[in-house]
Amino acid sequence: MNIYVDFDDCLCESARYYVRLAAEMFNSRVTYEEFRFFDMAKTFSLNEEQFDRFMIRGHAPEVLLSLEETPGASSVINEWLADSHQVSVITGRPLVAWEASRAWLDAHGLQQVPLFCFDKYGRDNFIKNSDFSLSLEDYRKMKFDFAVEDSPKAFPFFSHLPSLRVCVFDRPWNRDCVFPNENYARCRSWQEIRSRFSALLRDAGAC
Ligand SMILES: [Mg+2]
Repeated sequence: MNIYVDFDDCLCESARYYVRLAAEMFNSRVTYEEFRFFDMAKTFSLNEEQFDRFMIRGHAPEVLLSLEETPGASSVINEWLADSHQVSVITGRPLVAWEASRAWLDAHGLQQVPLFCFDKYGRDNFIKNSDFSLSLEDYRKMKFDFAVEDSPKAFPFFSHLPSLRVCVFDRPWNRDCVFPNENYARCRSWQEIRSRFSALLRDAGAC
């Protein structure tokens, strides 16, 4: 099977860090549970200049390296790799963050997993004038059977894969979203993701 895994808030606890950073930089009182919009400028009520400073600080290499792993992520992924499945990490982080992101994966036992930076969220939403390693054309040539993603903004990038099973990692900002079809399922942990993948393998074996 070919597996797509998003980085932030799937592999690591980015939003919990951003809540702390917004408190430190702007005296924000927004809690993790109140992180209702995927748009962080809106969540933390930041103007353009504040948002730019926030994103630059939040993407410093030492910050990216320090993000806590979401429990179970690397052990489940390594189990899939050991069973000869292909796993790719497709992140919306810009190319400038690639090295630190690669180092984070390596430090968490995910040396074998390729990492691609792909503009899922629109450049205006992110660090300005960003570069990405994966073009839309190249991304569309990649075929996936199973995906782990937290952002509803990324769902349109699955529309060319009608049989893709998508685990939506449960986060406050995706609780109100309507899933595009019945192949999407909310998952609250990597153990749940692991179970859904095993079920997909059983279904595939039964066909
Ligand atoms: Mg994410």
